[in-house]
Amino acid sequence: MASQKLLLLPGDGIGPEIMPEVKKVISWFNENGDMSFETEEGLVGGSAYDAHGQSISEEDMAKAMAADAVIFGAVGGPKWDDVPYEVRPEAGLLRLRKDMQLFANLRPAICYPALADASSLKKDIIEGLDILIVRELTGGVYFGEPKEITDLGNGQKRGVDTQVYDTYEIERISKVAFELARTRNNKVTSMEKRNVMKSGVLWNEVVTQTHGNGYQDVELEHMLADAGGMQLVRWPKQFDVIVTDNLFGDMLSDVAAMLTGSLGMLPSASLGAPDEATGKRKALYEPVHGSAPDIAGTGAANPIAMIASFGMALRYSFEEVEAADKLDKAIAVALDKGLRTKDIAGEGQATVSTSEMGDAIVAELSALSA
Ligand code: NAD
Repeated sequence: MASQKLLLLPGDGIGPEIMPEVKKVISWFNENGDMSFETEEGLVGGSAYDAHGQSISEEDMAKAMAADAVIFGAVGGPKWDDVPYEVRPEAGLLRLRKDMQLFANLRPAICYPALADASSLKKDIIEGLDILIVRELTGGVYFGEPKEITDLGNGQKRGVDTQVYDTYEIERISKVAFELARTRNNKVTSMEKRNVMKSGVLWNEVVTQTHGNGYQDVELEHMLADAGGMQLVRWPKQFDVIVTDNLFGDMLSDVAAMLTGSLGMLPSASLGAPDEATGKRKALYEPVHGSAPDIAGTGAANPIAMIASFGMALRYSFEEVEAADKLDKAIAVALDKGLRTKDIAGEGQATVSTSEMGDAIVAELSALSA
């Protein structure tokens, strides 16, 4: 099989501490799987600013555009609080998302059995949960124009954001959702506010039309986004794939994320459109959490979100479903055996370091293959 090119961008804070754990996993698959990954590294965020005065260099941008997948750590930290706005650490991530046209953000919420007690919801509601939120990432109210604060001249100001979606934007995100549902439990729930928003009416129409054009094998239901928020905490296991816009997706994916506990456990993927010639999508995989400056340098960071993000790359960029399942299983077994980084440890429970958790997961990969 041809070698797949990965660009690793560790970033700042705990980013460079959790990325080595992914490298162990990549090496394991290179040595033991029937796949082959070539890795390159680059700088992003504050570390890129320190080196080049930019949040990502043109050279690293070019590497990202050429890669089969970008594996991203985290950016930011107090050290760069006062750098100019356009070169702030987050600008590197936004540039990657924009230039790679990553319009689909995928956030799974999976409850590992060993952590079912850590949720704020009752165990039977959460145990075995496996849902996927597909959020539109490049349109909607975060980008629509006009976006401004105007002075009304009478002592009042007016803040305006514009929620705007075109047909093609809704169509392409719903296709991603239907296609992903086919690889899972074959059900999509589309969430909007068609009762009060014109963009919601169009969203509902276009999702329904797209469903009718070749995706009838997938079950489709529509739900108002506020009811969806309620259902997510009432009975989350009713969902498989949820597709929603940028604003509702931002909130609903955070709700879904917290169903399953710590930030250190949550992976994500951002995908672009399929290339016309190769069918491959541009893709960036990253943990949901930030650079955790409060624990950086202490060896306490949980590498699971980062490792599971690579698992999503196996699943969604490389169609290595079996390998992705094996990696998820290795994480679950390490947790079952009681391994805990500090963020997921119960009271009085012994903890392991970042690298010990990485080593344990790699050991479980070997044990599962024995
Ligand atoms: P954060 O996610 O970095 O940390 C929030 C809390 O969760 C902290 O207490 C932290 O120690 C803990 N935590 C996060 N990841 C963890 C892990 N893997 N293991 C154990 N504990 C973990 O959010 P924050 O503190 O609001 O932001 C810190 C910096 O990260 C800021 O500069 C922010 O702008 C940046 N940030 C970057 C991204 C990104 O790169 N995508 C996302 C969010 C925040």
